[in-house]
Formats: sequence, structure tokens, C-alpha cells
Amino acid sequence: MADFSDESIASLSKKLQAGEVSSREITESFLKSIEKLNPKINAFIRVEKETALKEADEADKRIADGGTEKLLGIPLGIKDLIVIKDGLTTCGSKILENFKSPYSATVIEKLREAGAVLLGKTNMDEFAMGSSNETSYFGRCKNPWNLDTVPGGSSGGSAAAVAARLCPGTLGSDTGGSIRQPAAFCGVAGLKPTYGRVSRFGLIAFASSLDQIGPFARNVEDCALILQAIAGYDSMDSTSADIPVPDYSKSLDEGVKGTVIGLPKEYFVGGVDTAIAAIVTDAAKKLENEGAKIEEVSLPHTKYAVAVYYVIAPAEASSNLSRYDGVKYGFRSDNASSLSEMYLNTRTEGFGAEVKRRIMLGTYALSSGYYDAYYLKAQKVRTLITNDFKEAFKKCDLLLTPTTPTAAFNIGEKIDDPLQMYLNDIFTISANLSGIPAISVQGGFTPSGLPVGVQLLAPHFGEPALFSAASAYEKLHGAELSAKKPAV
Ligand code: GLN
Repeated sequence: MADFSDESIASLSKKLQAGEVSSREITESFLKSIEKLNPKINAFIRVEKETALKEADEADKRIADGGTEKLLGIPLGIKDLIVIKDGLTTCGSKILENFKSPYSATVIEKLREAGAVLLGKTNMDEFAMGSSNETSYFGRCKNPWNLDTVPGGSSGGSAAAVAARLCPGTLGSDTGGSIRQPAAFCGVAGLKPTYGRVSRFGLIAFASSLDQIGPFARNVEDCALILQAIAGYDSMDSTSADIPVPDYSKSLDEGVKGTVIGLPKEYFVGGVDTAIAAIVTDAAKKLENEGAKIEEVSLPHTKYAVAVYYVIAPAEASSNLSRYDGVKYGFRSDNASSLSEMYLNTRTEGFGAEVKRRIMLGTYALSSGYYDAYYLKAQKVRTLITNDFKEAFKKCDLLLTPTTPTAAFNIGEKIDDPLQMYLNDIFTISANLSGIPAISVQGGFTPSGLPVGVQLLAPHFGEPALFSAASAYEKLHGAELSAKKPAV
């Protein structure tokens, strides 16, 4: 059987359109890779073989009838917090172990319109709370580059699946870095779009003012193709933006001539791995050689981002997760003799330790005696962080930073130390707090062979500029970097 695992979405699409291959052949090839490699990394927690093959056959019919959508016939994986009608959606939690959604998320409807083939659901930290994928109720996912290390989180399964070539693209969600950090750890590209660019209808809520769905793929062009299919206004999500969606593929070859790229000095401080700092500095030089202008800028409130996020995100989570009470959704404890005992035991048995920690932190921050001191104050500092970006974007078009302070850490290394785990999000959180788009692209490797991510950030709805710069940078690596693959 032909093997398509190394091919990008763009190249598979060309072959499908030229009639050189069928979606069924491609889908069978990826299903075979999943069968072989998934037991080693646990990137997929559920594979829907039958429906995927059925969708592949439908895509082949659509192609025969003249369908030209770029994702038509392309197999993708979906993070297990995006609902698909009648299928299971667990959010990586026991409390939703048997939950079947009566409707599909808007992004799923859009992928279906585009003709994508949905292979199954990818692993994640429980309720997207985590940076290592170690809190999944369905077992941890491993980093295909080194099975002793974490793939990042919370969308670790979506990143690892693309890195291990189990599929050419996936959807994830990013509340504080959950697309970009695992993309960096697994050596793939991952984009958090502007807040409101992609509908959140059918995305199980973690922190609603921060959550955003976005793509993972092996390169920038493929991320642009996926975003094109899922972006746009949705009347079912009151926070979705009624702003036209540009043609993202047009920006891919625009280059960076005249683009002013800022290096925020607060992102190049102690604690950043030296190999990572060197790769990001080198990225700036490379982009300068291509005609960009590099400027140092300051985002003075960066140091508060982790503290602000870890008040606001748990506060919103404590409210969002109150709906899991054993009555409306999923798991219900058998072990109760009254209604209040049923609520208590369902939540005690159904949620894992990190989710409970967040609910308690959030409830505390929102409680009447502490609301002003924590939640309100955090919201005020959030505005200062947003203003930092506004000021910086008066001087530059884009910002360039490391995605993470370190490369993938070892399994078990931080799981018992929540503060250390939270600090890993230091460079990704600010983009969520201010709603701006950001992309992580593969920048190279540490001396021990782990991937390093380079992050670019743009003003609201600046995805085209992100794609231009990220794709210019990616092209400078040539084929060498993209040909490297994990030896799982
Ligand atoms: N690691 C962060 C957290 O644990 C971000 C998670 C996310 O973006 N979903 O909250």
C-alpha cells in the first residue's frame, strides 16, 4: 500500500485533484500509521475507522463531480473537546467518558462542507488544563521525538499526531498556549487565531474569554489552508467576529521586505534555554537578511501574565464547569443517598486533581470577599498587558519570541509542582489575555535533539502578516528541517 505519511495537505490535495490518488487510499494509509504508531504515543484516544472511510468515499465522489475545496479528501484529527454529533467527546475527563453530543461544533460543520475526512479524536489534558498532557483520564500522550518527554499540552495529542505523521493536520484549542506550546515541543506548526476569528460553538468551554480553536500542521501553508476552512462569523457564537475572512494563501509568498519585527526584551531574560535563545536570535537575523527591520521593544507587564492568567482562567473555569453535576451530562456517581451527596460524589469522583485545583482557585478568586482583590485586579492588569501590545504594535508589525522557555521536559518532571508547570506558559499566555493571533513554527533542535519553536505575534486579525513572516522563515530552513522526523 502506498504511504502518504510525509506529504503535506497542499501536496495531497494536488494529487487528489489530479486524480493520481483517492481519498480512500490516503485515509487507509494514515489509518495504518495510526494502527502501527499510536500504541506507542497515545495521540489518538479514539479512531473512527468506519466513518472515516465512508467520508473518504464521499470525498472521492465529490472530487469526481468537480469538487475543488483544498481540504476535500484530506484526513484530519480533532482534539477531544470539539463536539461531533452522535460521537463521543470526553474532554480527556472521566466526567464526560460517555458523553455523546446531540450536535456538531461549527468548525466540524465547516470541515464537513470543505470535505475533510475526520479520523478520530486526539488526546488532551483534562478539560484542557495542563501543559504536558499528563492529566488526561485516558492515559498520557508521549512526545514522538523522545518517548520519555511530554508532547506539551493541553493539545498534546493533536501536536504529537502531526509530528508522528499519523495525519497531516489537526484541530486544537488554545486558552493559554495549548496549541503553540505543544507545537513547539513536537516540532510542528500551530496557530492560535485572533479571539473571535473562529467560532467557539461546540468547543467545550474552559475559559470563555480566552479559548480559541486553531490548526496544527507540518508547515505554515497547511495551517493557512485549515484556518481558511474554519474561520468566519457564526451567529451561534456571540463572540465571533463579523469581519470578512481574507484569502490566507495569498499572504504565503509575500515575504517580509519592509516588515518591522519587534523583539520584546522581557522575552529574552534568564531562564530561557540558551539553545532556544540562540535559535530565536538567529531567526531574527535570517528575517533581517530577507528585508525585515528588527527593533527591540518592551512589553513591561509581561511579568504579571502568568499570575493574571491563573486567576482569570480558573475563575471562568469554575463557572463553566459547574454544569457537570451528574444531572445533565456524562458520569453520575452511584454512591449517593441524597441529591447534594450525588452532586458532591459525582464531582469528587469525576474530576481529576488539576481540574479540582482550578475549580477551587477560581471559586476562591470569585468569592465575595476576594473578588476585588483577585478577579477584578487581574482584569485590570489584563488591560495593561493588552495596552503593552497596542503600544508595541505602534512601532512594529509583528513580534518575534521563543514559544517556550525550555524544550519538552521529562514525563513526571513537573506534574507534582503546579507552579513550575504554570511557568512553562509564560510566553504564550499574553496573546490569549489580549486576544491577538500568534503562531509557533519549527525553528530547530536543542543539542539533545528536541524541537524548538519560534513564535510570531500580530495585532488583532493580523493572521495574513503572521503567515507571510512565518512562511518566509520556514522557507529559509529549506527542505532539511522539514525532512527530519521522529524515529517512533
Ligand atoms: N497550560 C495552560 C493551562 O494549563 C494553557 C492551557 C490551554 O491553553 N488550554 O491552563
